[in-house]
Amino acid sequence: MEIALVGIGKIALDQHVPAIAASPDWDLAATVSRKGSVDGVESFTDFAELLERRSDIRVVSLCLPPVPRFDYAAAAIAAGRHVMLEKPPGASLSECHRLIDMAQAQRVSLYATWHSREAPMVAAAKAWLADKTLRRLQITWKEDVRRWHPGQDWIWEPGGLGVFDPGINALSILTEILPDAIHLTDATLEVPENKQGPIAASLRFAHPAGAEVGAVFDWRQDGDQIWTIEAETDRGRLELHDGGARMVIDGIEQSADGPALAGEYPRLYARMAQLVASGGSDVDLSPMRHVADAFLLGRRETVAPFHE
Ligand code: NAP
Repeated sequence: MEIALVGIGKIALDQHVPAIAASPDWDLAATVSRKGSVDGVESFTDFAELLERRSDIRVVSLCLPPVPRFDYAAAAIAAGRHVMLEKPPGASLSECHRLIDMAQAQRVSLYATWHSREAPMVAAAKAWLADKTLRRLQITWKEDVRRWHPGQDWIWEPGGLGVFDPGINALSILTEILPDAIHLTDATLEVPENKQGPIAASLRFAHPAGAEVGAVFDWRQDGDQIWTIEAETDRGRLELHDGGARMVIDGIEQSADGPALAGEYPRLYARMAQLVASGGSDVDLSPMRHVADAFLLGRRETVAPFHE
């Protein structure tokens, strides 16, 4: 199937273009970007023009930041296109619900991707936790914003999520692997005095069996970057490291069963191909709901200004 890629920035070039190029399902037929392009691929600067002139391209993948993305998604759905969304699926929950309703009405596929759920050991962690009673779970997501988001001013603006931009990846894994529904009870958001978005956050959740569930996100990490989820259960201890790439059970490193398709983004594109073929949609808003709750309930603390 032919696909158009919209917003030729960091994630489009790092992950989407190579994943599409390697996919047996997809052919990158066009790009839409105000200044970027991909060698050998027809490029547009105006999205409406792509929708009008290339009615043969039935699927679009939107790699824009969350705030500008809604208008593109709504226009694509209104024009009868199937839509794949980068994470987070929108700048607000209401926007996301609107897109779900529009996609249903137009009978097109809508896929809200969560790339971290496709990390190699996430499915194995889910299977291991399924029949155990959770006692304690702690997420530690600490990275250097200067290293991973250079020059990305949008990330500090309203709707950019601040440290929840990576933090929502941890929450996407949490909501995938936990057999129980949890809800946020309190949060602290550390906001630099010159920014709108938090640079660090800590969260606590209520768990139906009374397990302690918490998360710490921090963008001021020097040295080793940490993306870890640790869970203690009635029958052992699980650790997910490196954002779900590695799993340790009771101190023993586990190996993956050899996923048919390696790589988070190749697996997202394979899933999108299935959804389009079957006429399905996949929009799970639970990671975003926890982030929205943190912004609703979080106690703000002003911290030192951040300068890149
Ligand atoms: P980015 O490079 O800053 O922006 C992506 C592209 O979006 C830009 O190149 C630009 O495309 C377009 N864009 C930005 N602001 C726009 C606006 N106001 N109106 C229209 N187009 C605009 O961001 P990114 O890092 O690729 O992130 C994009 C999305 O992917 C985010 O939701 C992010 O959470 C997610 N993501 C990022 C990473 C990562 O490591 N960076 C990893 C996973 C997921 P043109 O200049 O081509 O018009």
